[in-house]
Amino acid sequence: MERIETVVKDLRAAGGRMTSARRSVLSALVAARSHVTAEDLLNLVQADSPEIHLSTVYRTLEALENLGVVDHVHLGHGRAVYHLTDSAHQHIVCEICSSVQEVPASLFAQLEKDLMDKYQFKVRMNHFAVIGTCKNCLEQLEKEKLVQR
Ligand SMILES: [Zn+2]
Ligand SMILES: [Zn+2]
Ligand SMILES: [Zn+2]
Repeated sequence: MERIETVVKDLRAAGGRMTSARRSVLSALVAARSHVTAEDLLNLVQADSPEIHLSTVYRTLEALENLGVVDHVHLGHGRAVYHLTDSAHQHIVCEICSSVQEVPASLFAQLEKDLMDKYQFKVRMNHFAVIGTCKNCLEQLEKEKLVQR
């Protein structure tokens, strides 16, 4: 509950109003504790507010994104997922098991600086996830290699 108050404070600081639809969507995002699609959020908010439709969820998310309290990220080939912006993070996604980990955005600071210095390109790293192979899957691949030998 504390987290939602922090987000509400950010929202008000950005000049946003707290409507009941916005509160429902924010509460669902906080409760989900992970990255959810607009459809996931609809299912969550409809538990309490069955009158809310998908179009309302999208409009609310758009308004919250414009106010800077919510952001979306593309984790892979699927739909965009939404998350709160109160902790700056980047996403690393395993292309084998699809696990998603959050890592500090500061890890990419040097890359952002180099792209700006050398190419005058202002990268927005967190709009897309960084794709690779996670620790568990790497270990699994190592084991399989050993078996094959
Ligand atoms: Zn996008
Ligand atoms: Zn996130
Ligand atoms: Zn994996």
